[in-house]
Amino acid sequence: DVVLEARGITKIFGNHTALKGVDISFRRGEVHALLGENGAGKSTLIKILTGAYTPDGGTIELEGQPVSFTTPQQAQALGIGTVYQEVNLLPNMTVSDNLFIGRQPSAFGMVNRSATDAMARTVLAQYGLDIDVRAELSTYSVAIQQIVAIARAVELSGKVLILDEPTASLDRHEVEKLFEIIRTLKARGLAIVFITHFLDQVFELSDRVTVLRNGFRVGSEPVSALDRTG
Ligand code: ADP
Ligand code: ADP
Repeated sequence: DVVLEARGITKIFGNHTALKGVDISFRRGEVHALLGENGAGKSTLIKILTGAYTPDGGTIELEGQPVSFTTPQQAQALGIGTVYQEVNLLPNMTVSDNLFIGRQPSAFGMVNRSATDAMARTVLAQYGLDIDVRAELSTYSVAIQQIVAIARAVELSGKVLILDEPTASLDRHEVEKLFEIIRTLKARGLAIVFITHFLDQVFELSDRVTVLRNGFRVGSEPVSALDRTG
């Protein structure tokens, strides 16, 4: 049940080829880890899949249809949401605005503030957050801001959620909470993709792992097929 599929993705920066014909596909209800050392091409690949970079070669299909997008907004509108390491939100705006601004104005933007705030509270409750949605986002911890970013990326028809090293600035307890949220979204049928450096996160959380090295895909396997001791 593939939702997003990329084939032959190539990306060239000056005289350096960062991605060399990479194939990758993401399935509904599956958590997919992207593993590889620094410089392997992981960030470049997810930036291409989320519209931040344009590939120099290759094709992308969403639910079997060829798609192309040149901005993260366009990718998001198709249901491909992303959360970067530096939380990509607006710290001086309210939590509520951060969730909904620029999204389907017919459903949210044009209604009054209290209705929008009530919607924000309802959405965040599903993520285990009970916070003041009228407070500035910056008043909350990085972990909470990241959950707001995930909610923003997923709500309103998200199909694919792509996370760049989501645990990088979280403590152990916050990581557990994040994993719980990821498992919930997986159960809702999303395809979830995350970059990690940690093998234990591959085994604990992921259904499938793709390894990149030096711009090539060196493997893509169901985690259940891997030998944990190997
Ligand atoms: P990873 O995320 O696996 O650490 P990256 O995708 O960030 O790897 O980088 C892959 C290669 O592409 C690296 O050699 C990196 O320096 C290069 N690269 C990434 N982004 C750019 C860019 N905007 N301009 C030039 N080179 C880049
Ligand atoms: P991000 O990963 O958020 O894009 P980076 O720190 O990777 O931020 O890059 C900051 C800026 O430098 C970006 O404009 C990016 O395109 C560029 N860049 C990243 N890696 C390289 C590189 N190896 N050579 C040249 N420019 C790069």
